[in-house]
This record gives sequence, structure tokens and C-alpha cells, in this order.
Amino acid sequence: CGIVAYLGHREACPIILKGLHRLEYRGYDSAGVALLNGDLTVYKKKGKVADLESFISAKDTHANVGMGHTRWATHGEPNDENAHPHYSTSERIAIIHNGIIENYAALKTHLQQQGHTFHSDTDTEVFVNLIEEIQKQNSCSLEEAVRLALHEVVGAYAIVVLSKDAPNQLIAARKGSPMVIGIGDGEFFIASDATPIIEYTNEVVYVNDYEIVVIRDGQLEIRSKEDVSQTPYIQKLEMEL
Ligand code: GLU
Repeated sequence: CGIVAYLGHREACPIILKGLHRLEYRGYDSAGVALLNGDLTVYKKKGKVADLESFISAKDTHANVGMGHTRWATHGEPNDENAHPHYSTSERIAIIHNGIIENYAALKTHLQQQGHTFHSDTDTEVFVNLIEEIQKQNSCSLEEAVRLALHEVVGAYAIVVLSKDAPNQLIAARKGSPMVIGIGDGEFFIASDATPIIEYTNEVVYVNDYEIVVIRDGQLEIRSKEDVSQTPYIQKLEMEL
């Protein structure tokens, strides 16, 4: 399973698909992408990255911000609906997630009582609806809603979140699942390991557990779960392509 995200001046979709291919060695049963370009569009399919590629080949994939995922099912069988990305009920927020949310059943019941609807059997769809509900209740930023949601979920995660209301922004977080950020010239990459990134930049930041990554206005900011700004440790990778 793996995640890839991009924000910058290039077309996001080809970079994401290439990155997903690089992560195929990690194993997966489905793949999907979300692209943010005024609209927030999700394409996802059970099967190989190549199946996703042929599915979207005739579609409009123009976007400079996006994210992609390969899924290794833990909650819900491998099928198109359970593939990531997942939308929140309003379809204004989308998430990709590697890991497991252990307390998803209790959170889901609560969210259903608050009017959220679910289209998959995944723990991940609960996570994105939790973020939406927190944002609604607190009238807060997406970043703050993600941060507060991390205090309520139990389990392991590497997530990336996109919102239609935050058109030039990527939010990510991790606990227990790997995540690395690539810093290019006015562009940013997020991935499960550096292999999708090294072609574009050798400046990387390895995200630590309980850190929240905010990429916005051409800046990378890393904050703790307690909302304290962290100084990113930028490493230079020496890798042969
Ligand atoms: N638990 C999530 C699911 O079953 C994510 C699995 C993964 O790590 O790919 O959809």
C-alpha cells in the first residue's frame, strides 16, 4: 500500500500515477486518485495502477494539486467503493489513508447519528467524516479539524487530506505509517517512501509520528498534535536513479 501527493506548477496526475507505480512493490489490491482543480474529483478502481490508468485515460485529469493511493484492504473487501480516496458526506473533503483506525465502529455510529452517510465499509471513510464534522462544529480551518480529529482516532495512519474549500493546500499526518515530504522549486511531494520523489528533488523531510504537515502558499509547515510549530529537518538524499 502507498500514498503519493503533489502540489506545484506541473500536472499532478502523471506524477502521482508514476509514483504509485514506484510504490507497487509494497503490495495492494486497488488504486485511486483525487484531483483538485476547482472541483474535487475522485477516480478509483479495484485492481492494478494500470487498470486505474486505463479507466482515467479518456477523462479530464487537469490539476496542479492531487493525491493517489494504493490500498491493502483491512476493513471492507477489495472493490471500487472501498478503494481510496474517500469523500466526506458533503464531498467537499477527500482523504487517502494507509493504516487502521481501531475505534472506527464507535465513531461511525456517532457520525451516522449526526447525519453523515457512508458508501464504503472502510475505517477511512469514518476518518474523513470525522474531520468534516469537527470542522462544522468548530467553524475552524481544515488544518485545525485534522489536528482535532487525530486526538479522537486510535490506530495507525498516514493520511493526506484535500478540501474543495482550500484549493491550494495539502494537509498530511502520520502515526505508525511512513511518510516523506519532497521539497522542490515551488513544488511539494508527499509519499510513503522517497522513490516517487527522487526524480524531482533530493531535499526531503521525514515526517515523525504525531506530526501534521501543512503545505500552503508555497510553504511547508510542520506542527505537533499539540499545535506547536516544529522546525523541519531537511535532508539531502544521495541516490542513484
Ligand atoms: N484501513 C484502510 C482500508 O482498509 C486502509 C488500508 C491501507 O493501508 O491501504 O481501506
